[in-house]
Amino acid sequence: MKIFARTPLDLHKVNIPVGQVYIIPERCKGCQLCIEFCPQHVLQESANINAKGYHYPEIAPGKELACVHCEFCTMVCPEFAIYTLELAESP
Ligand code: SF4
Ligand code: SF4
Repeated sequence: MKIFARTPLDLHKVNIPVGQVYIIPERCKGCQLCIEFCPQHVLQESANINAKGYHYPEIAPGKELACVHCEFCTMVCPEFAIYTLELAESP
């Protein structure tokens, strides 16, 4: 693994977005791909079930502002049951 010897000169210009997660429980089939692929560990399986009997995802406690709007969850969801919108950029 390559180790950088110094901090990138433009590091202060990097803005990490904050995302708002939207889940559509009735579309979910409980595959948990969104939970598995989230690099920020924002999601967890809900104790509740939808009308089809599947446990849909929810925001994990303390992770309300952890989403970085990478959209991995949206890309892997086979049922189009989750998406995110950018709330704001970090200062
Ligand atoms: S957009 Fe990225 S960080 Fe946010 S919940 Fe989805 S996978 Fe996680
Ligand atoms: S990837 Fe989609 S269908 Fe699978 S658990 Fe997440 S929201 Fe539900």
